[in-house]
Amino acid sequence: MARARAVVIGAGIGGLAAAAGLCAAGWEVTACERAASVEPVGAGLALAPNGLRALDAFGAGDALRKLAVTQELGIRRADGRWLTRSSSGRMIADRFGDPVIVVPRAAVIDALTARVPAGVLSLATEVTSVAPGGKAVARVSTTAGELEADLVVAADGIGSATRTALFPGHQGPRYAGITAWRLLTGPVTGPVPMAESWGRGTVFGVMPLAGGPVYCYATAAADPGTRADDELAELVRLFGTWHEPIPRLLAAAAPRDVLRHDVAELAAPLPSFHGGRVALLGDAAHPMAPNLGQGACQALEDAAVLSLLAAVRDPDTVTVMLDRYTAARLARTTDVVRWSRRIAAMTTWSSPAAVAFRDTVTWLAGRLAAGAELRAVAHVYGWQPPRPAELGRQADRRVTAVAAGAAKHPLCLRGAEAPGRVLAEQAADHRPQQRPGMSGELRFVRDGSAQAGRCVAVSVKGGVPLDRRVQQGTQRPQVLRRAGLPAVGSLGSDVRR
Ligand SMILES: Cc1cc2nc3c(=O)[nH]c(=O)nc-3n(C[C@H](O)[C@H](O)[C@H](O)COP(=O)(O)OP(=O)(O)OC[C@H]3O[C@@H](n4cnc5c(N)ncnc54)[C@H](O)[C@@H]3O)c2cc1C
Repeated sequence: MARARAVVIGAGIGGLAAAAGLCAAGWEVTACERAASVEPVGAGLALAPNGLRALDAFGAGDALRKLAVTQELGIRRADGRWLTRSSSGRMIADRFGDPVIVVPRAAVIDALTARVPAGVLSLATEVTSVAPGGKAVARVSTTAGELEADLVVAADGIGSATRTALFPGHQGPRYAGITAWRLLTGPVTGPVPMAESWGRGTVFGVMPLAGGPVYCYATAAADPGTRADDELAELVRLFGTWHEPIPRLLAAAAPRDVLRHDVAELAAPLPSFHGGRVALLGDAAHPMAPNLGQGACQALEDAAVLSLLAAVRDPDTVTVMLDRYTAARLARTTDVVRWSRRIAAMTTWSSPAAVAFRDTVTWLAGRLAAGAELRAVAHVYGWQPPRPAELGRQADRRVTAVAAGAAKHPLCLRGAEAPGRVLAEQAADHRPQQRPGMSGELRFVRDGSAQAGRCVAVSVKGGVPLDRRVQQGTQRPQVLRRAGLPAVGSLGSDVRR
């Protein structure tokens, strides 16, 4: 039997991981990268335990653990005073199996490239259009010719043309209000404690890497597109008077080593992570602010899940497989995007009162709420690659929206965890009508008709006890989140009192 064929668009971290995983799953893969070489954009990278676990799915985790420095990220003020001094590396490792590690970005690219068989990567090959197929195979036009594929994985980054083609009505990424610099510098003499320092609308991160170089990043609130003639001089202007070792690290840097990008994120989640035979992956699917250090980790999770699904599916069932992919990934990544946005927003605070409040809360949290940090990240760091059987079950247990038939409320959204129980009603104009006293968020997508679709309660709180077990506290949303049910699209459907 002919092997199933996949085309991967883009050979960043997400595309390389997908190519490695699909090859290992027995697919015939062509990975098209428009650049002439596979080069990392960005200096260093923090990999959380979930990212490492995803890398293990491609056999690439241990190569990186060998090069790793454990992240112990304390928070400082611009004058150097510590707000929190982290010693959580060991605690994170004890709880999640690995600490957060910091590695050169090039090492991640090298580890993944080593898992991609020769002949798979087609460099200097730009994909110019994709016909997503469905029952028929997908067709991919490239500058090197036409390709047919049972599956297309679009890992073409934040500016994904494939995303725009699949979802032309979606608003796409928006500027997050911050610009980011990254550089590798050092080694320098003197102590270089790992820390992130917060100023007024500004952040400077210092992460020593194995062997002496230091990965630094900085962010500042700025108008989109703002650029300086000399970005190193701009960093010195903004951060040169901050505490040591920041001035020393900047003095050791060369202007050519400084990268600057505006940060963008997806304002509203996509309705789905697939269309026809095309799956969106990584920043193409869920661009996010970098403040949680999860963009690449989530891309790796996407690739791990897709590869697991691809290992047990034949080409005829690609569309079923992609349904399951969306079901497994959309709700989780939407949550991470939202969380990243919240942290990013906090770093842009610049009024003295807001900054003093933020710093005090951070200081107090460091002293009074030890362990809270770990609990907060548990659902992100604790991710495990699902077993294929579980992925199937999740899709089958999706929350369904069924036609109610009434003209006023044609759609009733029902929870699969509690079959038949109406959580909220979706009116014809898509404005949700909440049950009295209920607050929370439902997300909904139509399945190609006005009468059917899927929804998930992302959060449901308070309210009249339709059912006490569901309404008290947050029991229901947690159950739904854990099950990884699909939160597919958002019709502005915050259901509020
Ligand atoms: C300042 C900053 C710090 C960050 N720090 C972290 C961190 O510590 N930890 C973490 O997990 N994440 C971090 N991230 C996020 C992370 O860098 C990204 O989420 C991740 O690199 C996305 O990978 P990707 O493969 O999806 O996209 P990309 O890396 O953007 O790759 C897309 C590729 O597709 C190619 N391409 C595009 N269009 C076409 C086409 N038509 N044909 C062929 N090829 C095409 C591009 O050339 C590119 O190589 C950070 C991001 C920023 C901005």
